[in-house]
Amino acid sequence: MKTSKLEEEENIQEQKLVEPVPVVFQCLNCLQIVGDSNSWVISKEELNTVTLRDVPVDRVRVSKRLETTKDGLCVYSKIYCLKCNFELGMVFRATSKALDELRDMYTFRIDKIESYELGQKSFDTLGNTRFDIDIQMKEDILKLKSFCLSLSERWQLHDESLQAIWTILNNDKEKNPITENNVRHRTKKVKTQNT
Ligand SMILES: [Zn+2]
Repeated sequence: MKTSKLEEEENIQEQKLVEPVPVVFQCLNCLQIVGDSNSWVISKEELNTVTLRDVPVDRVRVSKRLETTKDGLCVYSKIYCLKCNFELGMVFRATSKALDELRDMYTFRIDKIESYELGQKSFDTLGNTRFDIDIQMKEDILKLKSFCLSLSERWQLHDESLQAIWTILNNDKEKNPITENNVRHRTKKVKTQNT
């Protein structure tokens, strides 16, 4: 099925609008930032957790002590906030098959962290974000720069041609200085040629 240009534009707008907003995660106790949604892996509703691939190393401490879950299927180390020592979650070292994707990741308990959504992206009337506009501006500036360069090159060529003409004229003037005699001589020459 063929879609009209308007429909295509609407689709692009919708895609942009559902783009996830970045979220910052903080320790619930001291509000230190302990991670963000850029490294988001998965949220598990049944565990009440959110799992991140990476966290800033200077924000959390992972205990060396290994603990076992009540069902005995998983082994994990607890994660603590480095600033206030509040327990935030765990790093699974060995898991049941169901929790395989959490292994060696940072799994935070949702009731131990605060989440903060960074400002909703704003769009102009054409559906461009600030980032799109900046890119467009940079491209425009580059175009303008290359235009100015070509203009200056052209001007330089022009200038060189003018200089060349000027030099020829000056040389000619030195060889044949415009004196009264010279003018008469030239005029005479022209008259002779005409008769
Ligand atoms: Zn803390």
